[in-house]
Amino acid sequence: MEAESYMSFRLSKYTLQVPADPPNGKTLLYNTLTRSIVQVNETSLNIIHNPERQQCLTSQEQDALQQLKQLGVLVNEEEDEFSGGCAWYQRIRNDRSVIHLTVLTTYSCNLACPYCVENGVKKRIFLKRNTSQQIVRWVKGILEEEKAANLLLTFYGGEPLLNKKEIYFLSDAANILCEHYALKKSCRLITNGVLLVPSEVDALVKEGVTHVKITLDGFGEDHDRKRPTLGGQGTFSTIIENLTYAVNHLQVTIGSNFDSSNLESVKKLYDYLHSLGLHQKLKAVHAKPILSTLSDKIASAISQQCTVCRMSETDYQGLLDIVKYAQTLGFNVADNMSLGPCQALKYHSYVIDPNGVIYKCPGFVGRPEFAIGDVAYGVMNTQKAYRDLNIHEPCQTCKYMPLCAGGCRHSAFLENDDDRGMACEGEYFERTAGEFVRILSSK
Ligand code: SF4
Ligand code: SF4
Repeated sequence: MEAESYMSFRLSKYTLQVPADPPNGKTLLYNTLTRSIVQVNETSLNIIHNPERQQCLTSQEQDALQQLKQLGVLVNEEEDEFSGGCAWYQRIRNDRSVIHLTVLTTYSCNLACPYCVENGVKKRIFLKRNTSQQIVRWVKGILEEEKAANLLLTFYGGEPLLNKKEIYFLSDAANILCEHYALKKSCRLITNGVLLVPSEVDALVKEGVTHVKITLDGFGEDHDRKRPTLGGQGTFSTIIENLTYAVNHLQVTIGSNFDSSNLESVKKLYDYLHSLGLHQKLKAVHAKPILSTLSDKIASAISQQCTVCRMSETDYQGLLDIVKYAQTLGFNVADNMSLGPCQALKYHSYVIDPNGVIYKCPGFVGRPEFAIGDVAYGVMNTQKAYRDLNIHEPCQTCKYMPLCAGGCRHSAFLENDDDRGMACEGEYFERTAGEFVRILSSK
């Protein structure tokens, strides 16, 4: 009987092949679009790469290939993947069902970190009640027009807890709006942790805040040097005290900015957190190389708000070193591979400063040339809102497109004075993706 012709598959262009480590003859296959990860042996890999061999498979082998196809690791030979990737990207970008608001309750801060993203814009400006009311009216206007399903609310600063009454006012208002428009609300706070005392944690939980991100830039005095109070005092012990209460009531992520001066100290910090048993209680740890910002184009950390930003030309080895160390200790490690799509390109993603000015990215706050509108009048500058920008188009052949999609607008501006250009992260992915895939596979 003639063998039934079988449709052949090939590896998706978005599938990375990574040899297992330690070497065991197996290969990890990771798809950047579906984020699926599988381990295959040499025989399976040969079948995948040999369309003729695919015409005479056992039923068991056929089932295995079908499963890989379902995971997106394999695709049909003729599939136009870039169109599929673009459709995926446009769906995310134009998803109007998610309203993501980041509100800076103040530009002011109780710390004097030398690398701060707010350098150059730091002023004693606080969100006032009438501006908060305008924010609520503006959001209500959006909800009247859109069938939204999710409201993501992030409080940021400066130090947002310096203006906590507006946090509580806006959380309350968000609760009412979410109930009225049947939205699912998610609320988080990005704080230096100094003012996050137990009574504050309790009050925030009551308001529906579920996530907090706290920054610790090393252990003990190393952190104190990087994140002193305005008067020059250390903050490490206060933050640890607050943290040990907060982890029992909120999902807490520890962010750490590092360069060569504190890389070892961040590892010491992880040792210390581990000794307190916090590796079992923290949501994740997230280390990030210190980067340039718009504020003065000197080495500086981009906001803790964005998991994305320019990673090429940073200390990859240091990052991998820290991530592997944290994982060995049993911490959940934040995803360092997903650099995109940039939050600023998403339709209803807004950053609102204490004056009620609307921006697309926390890295642009306080720079009027990047404002897209005002909560009193709405979005007026659609060019800076990037609604017409398809930055991923030159990325047709790139296997990392779903992890990046053209890169960070803030970085593109820093590099070429053009926030609408590409900020390619190809080098970063080439040098780190293999290791990150191995780390993912061992989770
Ligand atoms: S431009 Fe996009 S990726 Fe870059 S920091 Fe801003 S939101 Fe994040
Ligand atoms: S910007 Fe570079 S790394 Fe990013 S998707 Fe495009 S080609 Fe790939």
